[in-house]
Amino acid sequence: MTTDLPATEATPPAGLPDRRLLFVHAHPDDETITNGVTMAKYAAEGALVTLVTCTLGEEGEVIPPELAHLASDRDDTLGEHRIGELAAAMEALGVTDHRFLGGPGRYRDSGMMGVPHNDNPKCFWQADLDEAAGRLVDVILETRPQVLVTYDSNGGYGHPDHIQAHRVAMRGYELAAARGHTIDRVYEVCFPRSVVAAGFERLRAAGGNSVFQHIATPDDVPGVVDDALVNASVNGEAYSDNKKAALTAHHSQIAVDGPFFALSNELGQPFFGTEYFRQVRGEALAEGVADGLFPEVAESAR
Ligand SMILES: [Zn+2]
Repeated sequence: MTTDLPATEATPPAGLPDRRLLFVHAHPDDETITNGVTMAKYAAEGALVTLVTCTLGEEGEVIPPELAHLASDRDDTLGEHRIGELAAAMEALGVTDHRFLGGPGRYRDSGMMGVPHNDNPKCFWQADLDEAAGRLVDVILETRPQVLVTYDSNGGYGHPDHIQAHRVAMRGYELAAARGHTIDRVYEVCFPRSVVAAGFERLRAAGGNSVFQHIATPDDVPGVVDDALVNASVNGEAYSDNKKAALTAHHSQIAVDGPFFALSNELGQPFFGTEYFRQVRGEALAEGVADGLFPEVAESAR
């Protein structure tokens, strides 16, 4: 089995599973929306799945009226509430190693780009890059991931915390390499345009605005890219129920209706049981779209 492991590592570090993945996300719920089936699948297969969430999502918009008082302009207790939602979501996905960067509440949600919260010295957007990345390096050196997953440089849709999560992840990758652990592959999350378009067709065909006010458009989905840029996918259809349960756990932020869901804009979106990635660091993949994030250990480790 060891001959199939990446060249940088002859045997897994003591006490750690053969396969290890690190996901870096901005707010509680991002991990489930973008990587829910991937996390559930690898966790079920015995891989170490580590989630680092950078903020508590204190500035999120609250959907259920009965929870409206949690919002930052009222009680400002949404962050605390979302710690519980994230824990429930991780239970649904079977992920036991989830942490907040620097501990819960170390970095505050920065709000959408251009709002006054962006200037709060405690917010993630104002964080010192090397200091924040240093906290991620501690996690990397402990869990020794072969795979790192985060957003593209625009954070998928321009949210300051998503952009900063990308920067911290990429800086953490560099700093960890300088300290002796090179992550084999770094992936950005993305959605192929054709898949998203087909998902919206399904939503329209199903009369998707029966529950949701309106249907979103592919432009509302973060990280949509030309199909040719996608070079890996994880078919997690078998874990769709886990992802739906995890989406439901993020009750303050997400409304779920059958195969569709909506965020606080109340625009219905299709649910995806296959997730897509673009490799941006590490040895080049073969042409086409790889099945899974660990092509070279796919057979030996199952
Ligand atoms: Zn987010």
